[in-house]
Amino acid sequence: MSYVQDIYEQVVKRNQHEPEFLQAVNEVLQSLEPALEQHPEYQKAGILERIVEPERQIIFRVPWVNDDGDVEVNRGMRIQFNSAIGPYKGGLRFHPSVNLGIIKFLGFEQIFKNALTGLPMGGGKGGSDFDPRGKSDAEVMRFCQSFMTELYRHIGADTDVPAGDIGVGGREIGFLFGQYKRLKNLYEGVLTGKGLTWGGSLGRPEATGYGTIYFVEEMLKSRGESLQGKTITISGYGNVGTYLIEKANQLGAKVVTIGDEYGYVHDPDGIKGEKLEFLMDLWCIYRRAAKDYADEFGLEWVPDKSPWEVPCDIAVPTATQNEVCSEDARLLVANGCTCVAEAANMPCMADAVDTFIENNILFGPSKAVNAGGVAVSGLEMSQNSMRYSWTFDEVDAKLKIIMANIYKSASTAAKEYGRENNLVVGANIAGFLKVADAMMAQGVV
Ligand code: GLU
Repeated sequence: MSYVQDIYEQVVKRNQHEPEFLQAVNEVLQSLEPALEQHPEYQKAGILERIVEPERQIIFRVPWVNDDGDVEVNRGMRIQFNSAIGPYKGGLRFHPSVNLGIIKFLGFEQIFKNALTGLPMGGGKGGSDFDPRGKSDAEVMRFCQSFMTELYRHIGADTDVPAGDIGVGGREIGFLFGQYKRLKNLYEGVLTGKGLTWGGSLGRPEATGYGTIYFVEEMLKSRGESLQGKTITISGYGNVGTYLIEKANQLGAKVVTIGDEYGYVHDPDGIKGEKLEFLMDLWCIYRRAAKDYADEFGLEWVPDKSPWEVPCDIAVPTATQNEVCSEDARLLVANGCTCVAEAANMPCMADAVDTFIENNILFGPSKAVNAGGVAVSGLEMSQNSMRYSWTFDEVDAKLKIIMANIYKSASTAAKEYGRENNLVVGANIAGFLKVADAMMAQGVV
């Protein structure tokens, strides 16, 4: 049995009921084979054995009182996965589907994503099965305060710096930050995604969506193409989707779908102008359904289907893990799609990814494509440390350079290790080598 297979079997044995975590580990381990052949020292130092096991896993009770005066209890968690290249860094997800396996898969991905940004950030992730949808502001505040009342002892600006993810936006970060400051009597950059008047960075809300488009531009450039005149389909309409649309419009493309778990809207003219303005607040402020967009503008609502059946040049899944199955992938290819970029974390199932690669589709994996969000979080940390803030244009220019560098690192590594054009292998190897070298230098810890 190869080193990689051997490690994967151990991971399966230890994490049997965590399919998303196993999926993420399997994809990374398989990609690493060519790099491990060239670096036998990693096996000797047990790098793989260590990198698949979180440094620390914290699980805690989050009791809070709802508006009716009843006690509710959620589960909170934080996975501090790897701190070889910097403090643990990664978002918090509040969604009823959250469980340990999902947070572990996200934390594992974050290790390599953060390494790819070139900034000094380790990998971590956290969250809760709390559902902010349908809750009042006061309920969300009480939940966040209770969540932080446990989490505060495990985090800090130089230890672990959480941020947002699904269900955690500016409102939640505000409540979490307020409680941290109160408990620790310390005003520090312990969270990113903060508001502009209390330590946030210009350009952070836009970063994941804009960064995705900058990465897509790099992918297209490799084939002598640009975004001009391209039709894009996306699935979500939260923070990532809305800013992605804004940047795509600026660069001459049009985005023709959005959706949620209940179906999708097809807007053949493209989401722009007052329609984009309406969309910007729909989820991020009001947490309303995608169908409301169809109703508002007299468009067709297609229930129980995903937008991947709509012909497009570029498909960008922006919602959640495993939202694109192999059937969707075959349909996209058959309908003429030539580029798929994962803006959500691991939205394509393993066999969908295989379909894209077999069909020579430009495929950008999430840990490269959506790294712009955490990259600007890294820039927010730098600004907090300096007690200074950069202008929007300064942040945006840095983001652009970071995204181009990520593309370059992934495509160069793919070529160097004999898998030219395979950005999945390239991103995994490039991220891994940086973390593995740091782990080697720091001894067996
Ligand atoms: N949740 C985002 C991600 O998946 C951002 C994390 C952060 O800014 O720390 O990368």
